[in-house]
Amino acid sequence: MLDKRNFYINGKWVKPSKPNDFGVINPSNEETFATISLGDKEDTDSAVRAAKNAFNSWKETSKIERIDYLEKLLRNYKKRFNEMAEAMSMEMGAPIDYAISTHSASGQSHIEDFIVRLKEFKFEEHFDLKSNNHIAYEPIGVCGLITPWNWPINQIALKAIPAFATGCTMILKPSEIAPISAMLFAEMIDETGFPPGVFNLVNGDGAGVGTQISGHPDIDMVSFTGSTRAGKLITKNAADTIKRVCLELGGKGGNIVFSDSYPNAVRDGIRNVMSNSGQSCDAPTRMLVEKSIYDRAVKEAVDEANKINVNLASKKGDHIGPVVSKIQYDKIINLIKDGIDEGATLAAGGPDLPDGLNKGYFIKPTIFTDVTNDMQIAKKEIFGPVLSIIPFNTEDEAIKITNDTEYGLGNYLQTEDKEKAKRVAKKLRSGIVYINGNGADSGTPFGGYRQSGNGREGGIWGLEEYLEIKTITGWK
Ligand code: NAD
Repeated sequence: MLDKRNFYINGKWVKPSKPNDFGVINPSNEETFATISLGDKEDTDSAVRAAKNAFNSWKETSKIERIDYLEKLLRNYKKRFNEMAEAMSMEMGAPIDYAISTHSASGQSHIEDFIVRLKEFKFEEHFDLKSNNHIAYEPIGVCGLITPWNWPINQIALKAIPAFATGCTMILKPSEIAPISAMLFAEMIDETGFPPGVFNLVNGDGAGVGTQISGHPDIDMVSFTGSTRAGKLITKNAADTIKRVCLELGGKGGNIVFSDSYPNAVRDGIRNVMSNSGQSCDAPTRMLVEKSIYDRAVKEAVDEANKINVNLASKKGDHIGPVVSKIQYDKIINLIKDGIDEGATLAAGGPDLPDGLNKGYFIKPTIFTDVTNDMQIAKKEIFGPVLSIIPFNTEDEAIKITNDTEYGLGNYLQTEDKEKAKRVAKKLRSGIVYINGNGADSGTPFGGYRQSGNGREGGIWGLEEYLEIKTITGWK
């Protein structure tokens, strides 16, 4: 049985240099169910050394060799698919059915998709027929991967798989709040038999291992997913070493519901924002509703929110689970109270615990109506099951309100008018616009504008983040 305090460095599970125990809490019952260790500079340095040594030979592997490794990893992932779902259900509170169908499935689909993209990707190409110049795409080197707790394996796979695929080596620092899925992933890497040092895992917090990674002179790139707050600190700390910093940060998505939207648009919007207990960076947390259908939309929204059950993550069913931690719980409850104090109408939910639950970080699906875009609940990323409904009169006003945020990750719009949908989609300042509930296909780029970040993960764009581009003249 793996000692959860250990780190995976240079192809082995090793003891931390200094014991620094940290309890991993199950948010459904507030109990510690595992103990990890937070790493120290010595652990980070040792992982970076291993990754640096391994880079010399891993970068020379052929595309076919790397595809073989990833296909073997995919087989190992599938074998432990349910275990992965259980780990995430325990560490971050995703209800088990949702953890299986969505969280664990996302890890598998990213491995599958990157294998397809890697097969297609050309690491060398001629510049043009008249030229003797040649273009080569080469791995950037040692990568520091820092991931959040809200979509644990999704974020890890979006970083580690393209790093493997492009010939990079890496140090993963998962969220200390949800590290068990990452440790299981490291076990799969071990079972797959990647050469020692290609993948290393060191647990730790942001102030410790996270900061050591962003400032490390031997790390060539940091790929970070998490809060805008930490993204700024990482960028500043990385500046002295001029490493590449790819950021996937927070969001405050708008969902524009026009009067000609499809019949279930409001209800689908509620389900979307409440899924994963509202803990998604691209959650549509501001619903903008055209005035002519406002009253009907509010009734439907409240009815739908009241139908959503909240319950233990270990139970089967389509309920939502707790939010991840006491810190998040307190932050969300305080923002709900701010919304009430600012004069928004509390139409569903609120700060009290859901019926029948007196332990665990559970929050009722909450809806505020008559919200204006200058209120805190419309500006801040609440990261809980809380929606603000904002009325609008015209298309231009809806676009203006949606874009009036420091973020720009995912926006949504609902209308049966195809021309209007395309026109509005192009005017929204975000990395993704979802029209009429259509999801993004595997392999499309995911990332944000403005303070939502500067990276694009997934597909060929996700591979390119890990590559340097070289021009070679006189090739013919
Ligand atoms: P967080 O920023 O607190 O932590 C994320 C990771 O960064 C953790 O591993 C943490 O230990 C580490 N970290 C914290 N401070 C650091 C520092 N100064 N230096 C280096 N590392 C540091 O975020 P979180 O609470 O774990 O996750 C939620 C946030 O992630 C939300 O803001 C959400 O929108 C964002 N997110 C964005 C995307 C995206 O693709 N844009 C996807 C998922 C989550």
